[in-house]
Amino acid sequence: MTTSIPADPLVARMRPFGTTIFTEMSALAARTGSVNLGQGFPDTDGPPEMVDAAAEALRSGANQYPPLPGIPVLRQAIAAHEKRFWQLSRDPDTEVVVTAGATEAIAAAILALCEAGDEVVCFEPYYDSYAASVALAGAVRRPVTLRPGPDGRYGFDEAELRAAFRARTRLVLLNTPHNPTGKVFTPAELALIAELCREHDVYAVTDEVYEHLVFTDAAAGHLPLATLPGMRERTLRISSAGKSFSCTGWKVGWVTGPAALVSAVQRVKQFLTFVNAGPLQPAVAVALSLPDSYFTGLRDSMQARRDRLVAGLTDAGFGVLPGEGTYFVTADIRPLGGADGTDFCRALPERCGVVAVPTQVFYDHPERGRHLIRFAFCKREDVIDEAARRLRTLS
Ligand code: PMP
Ligand code: GLN
Repeated sequence: MTTSIPADPLVARMRPFGTTIFTEMSALAARTGSVNLGQGFPDTDGPPEMVDAAAEALRSGANQYPPLPGIPVLRQAIAAHEKRFWQLSRDPDTEVVVTAGATEAIAAAILALCEAGDEVVCFEPYYDSYAASVALAGAVRRPVTLRPGPDGRYGFDEAELRAAFRARTRLVLLNTPHNPTGKVFTPAELALIAELCREHDVYAVTDEVYEHLVFTDAAAGHLPLATLPGMRERTLRISSAGKSFSCTGWKVGWVTGPAALVSAVQRVKQFLTFVNAGPLQPAVAVALSLPDSYFTGLRDSMQARRDRLVAGLTDAGFGVLPGEGTYFVTADIRPLGGADGTDFCRALPERCGVVAVPTQVFYDHPERGRHLIRFAFCKREDVIDEAARRLRTLS
């Protein structure tokens, strides 16, 4: 008997997820020779000390499997970094695990903690891998919508968040600073989320990959949810070298938290990738140990780029929601006669040679973000200026 292969052999739970918007838009940028302000990756290298350490490790034989949780020197550096910036104490031997980027960390955390049918509270728009990871686990998302207020800052409705916590809620998946909006959750918002986690006895998984990219005009600085009362013992904190050290292609991330939760993540991670990035791990340890001036310098340079792009977008006629952190700003296309961000972004390369990303793909309720598109400003200033020049031809 021959096996017949159906037209789409993919399991039903993954079928709603096509090619990611980042892949689609970066391919479009390459094909049309457009300025790519879509996918969020820097176009300059990270700190030279880190790159030198990686080259040295490659040449000195650090090319075999590292230990499952990551090399000790990196786990120690991750723990020291969390202590230095967020006053969180971690045991590097039991409370830290290195992952293949934040993406694997998010997937492993959800797969480790969610039974089929469990519910995950998240905030839409959300980073695209969240929905796919929840689906892989057979879990269900309960999105709470972030909406821009009159001052341009995104917020959420307290009653909507309270209602999202139900009998099957297993965890809250929180991203702050937030992609794609650039929102930085305020202490009051975090206190409410923490209160609900305690009251309903659920876990929190926090994606803090932009922890060092909160701008000086933000309403509040970055505050890890794990630092709030009663939260350390129920929170897995995720970060990654990609954004803090401009090396998104290295895919070195990590998870920290109480030993039992970290161990659960590690037991899943060992069968996803086992280990990753052997020769890059000592280099990330070097980067995490750089002085504070490195981190403030990164922030200041990214803030200047945000301001440059915001000025360019405003000049081009967009409504602009500048955001308070991350790599991204949101633009409203309605002042330029646009209605649907996906149509607008698909046509933009032809119209003026620039690529952006439609925000609606990050929602369970796409109509709530239909008129919004996302631009990345983690690019050289001449690249931002060229994009702004091209976008000005739209109006
Ligand atoms: N979370 C957020 C919010 C992101 O923007 C990204 C993309 N960089 C990731 C996770 C994935 O990070 P990594 O590349 O380290 O897997
Ligand atoms: N995090 C990056 C962004 O939001 C890209 C990640 C990806 O390509 N999967 O643009």
